[in-house]
Amino acid sequence: MPFTELQLQLDEQAAKGLLRQRRTVTSAQGIRLTVEGKQYVSFCSNDYLGLANHPVIIAALQAGAELYGAGAGAAHLVSGHSLAHEALENELATFVDKPSALLFSTGYMANLGAVQALTDRGDTVFADKLNHASLNDAMQLSHANVKRYRHNDIAQLDAMLGETSKGRKLVCTDAVFSMDGDRARLPELLDLCEKHDAWLLLDDAHGFGVSGKNGRGSLSHSGIESPRIIYMATLGKAAGVSGAFVAAEKIVIDTLVNNARSYIYTTASPPALSVALSESLKLIAEGDEWRAHLQGLITKLRKGLEGLRWATMESGTAIQPLMIGGNQAALDLSVALRERGIWVPAIRPPTVPVNTARLRITLSAAHTAADVNRLIEALHELAR
Ligand SMILES: *Cc1c(COP(=O)(O)O)cnc(C)c1O
Repeated sequence: MPFTELQLQLDEQAAKGLLRQRRTVTSAQGIRLTVEGKQYVSFCSNDYLGLANHPVIIAALQAGAELYGAGAGAAHLVSGHSLAHEALENELATFVDKPSALLFSTGYMANLGAVQALTDRGDTVFADKLNHASLNDAMQLSHANVKRYRHNDIAQLDAMLGETSKGRKLVCTDAVFSMDGDRARLPELLDLCEKHDAWLLLDDAHGFGVSGKNGRGSLSHSGIESPRIIYMATLGKAAGVSGAFVAAEKIVIDTLVNNARSYIYTTASPPALSVALSESLKLIAEGDEWRAHLQGLITKLRKGLEGLRWATMESGTAIQPLMIGGNQAALDLSVALRERGIWVPAIRPPTVPVNTARLRITLSAAHTAADVNRLIEALHELAR
């Protein structure tokens, strides 16, 4: 049995400072976490509005379970598609101003399904090099040709699109990049897609609920709209629950229902989650004060991190990476913060490029100014 091979592989990962370990959280999700008996202020989660443990959403989840039970029982195309799913899809489509929307169980599956169903042999997928792993995996699952362009390099993408004459073209990008926190250049990307008659698939995992008017996401933030935009967003981040959706023209959604394998061959998510998400959507829409508070914390943190020996990145979002470089150095810094009761994850390759290990600080509207000050002071102390 190949146990020795597996052990060698793990040993190699460990030697590079790349071994990953999970830590068990014993409290509810939130800014204040209990981990293995110790209390922490967390700067780890994507729960940008603090909704993961919101009483209104918890109550909706309970009510949803009373109405629909615990599980969906079957796939959407069998008997698992409930009124709760249907209602949420309509609300999501309206919210992001698209004709139609389709729920997926996770964002990972939504990306796999969308790219696989919309492209085939002879087509070409164009992808930003810093896209999320799920989009990269999606391209492998599709039989299309793949061209990756340098991060946000509009000129290179223009050239690549120009060289491609045959088949469908699908440009895929994170709208807010998950490990850098910067934004895709959406208006320019849309112009290119118009020019070369390409689709634009946007992954707005980190924009939905946080950016744009009433938290409607990155389309609203950048003021663009087009039938050629296929909008995907996740519901386990700012929305605080779980799942994802794709919103687009009805014909695109019909195509996904009939062809997206990660939609067809899986059990529908529990309908109670959709009941909870409907409430979450209302809270997001009314959340301007939370978003303003979060924006204030972002400004405060960026100012506070000036003068450290580690650089921040060009990010105006709640994702504020601190560039460390080496894997071990990033881990050590994360451990030193943890000893001070502050939890910030070290992000290492292959999640980010080699030699760009970093602390990925994420802020939430649930943080207080004092929480952010505490992090700033600890980092200045550790930098000395
Ligand atoms: C988190 C994330 C996903 C995956 O979403 P899940 O619902 O967690 O599977 C996809 N894309 C991006 C950019 C993400 O950050």
